[in-house]
Amino acid sequence: MYDNNNIFAKIIRGDAPSRKIYEDDFALAFDNIAPRAKTHVLVVPKGEYTDIYDFTANAPADLQIGFWGAVRKTVDTLGLGNNFRIVANTGPGAGQSVFHFHVHVMSDEKFKSDF
Ligand code: AMP
Repeated sequence: MYDNNNIFAKIIRGDAPSRKIYEDDFALAFDNIAPRAKTHVLVVPKGEYTDIYDFTANAPADLQIGFWGAVRKTVDTLGLGNNFRIVANTGPGAGQSVFHFHVHVMSDEKFKSDF
């Protein structure tokens, strides 16, 4: 069940601050307040979906296409080329803490050595 008082819903509405990286009709990208990598940006769709499982089942096609296009434009705005990582924590058991679908876009030299 989606709760529209979550922090990302407030940021989209302009009721909470963020450091914006990219925005269009479909999505908003902003800096993570507690970065875990040199570059750590969150991209959120402008729609009420709790996680990627909900979003891919229930969001209209134009929003799904627009969202992934906004992810790509965020990557381009950040100048990450083809050196970045996308993560979508899904469910509390996987570490999700904000229940408005988002992807983490991260880039850091240290990624070369893990996985
Ligand atoms: P997740 O654990 O995948 O749900 O990710 C939620 C992320 O949101 C965490 O990495 C937090 O650091 C980040 N976060 C929480 N509140 C804010 C905020 N007000 N502005 C930016 N990032 C936030």
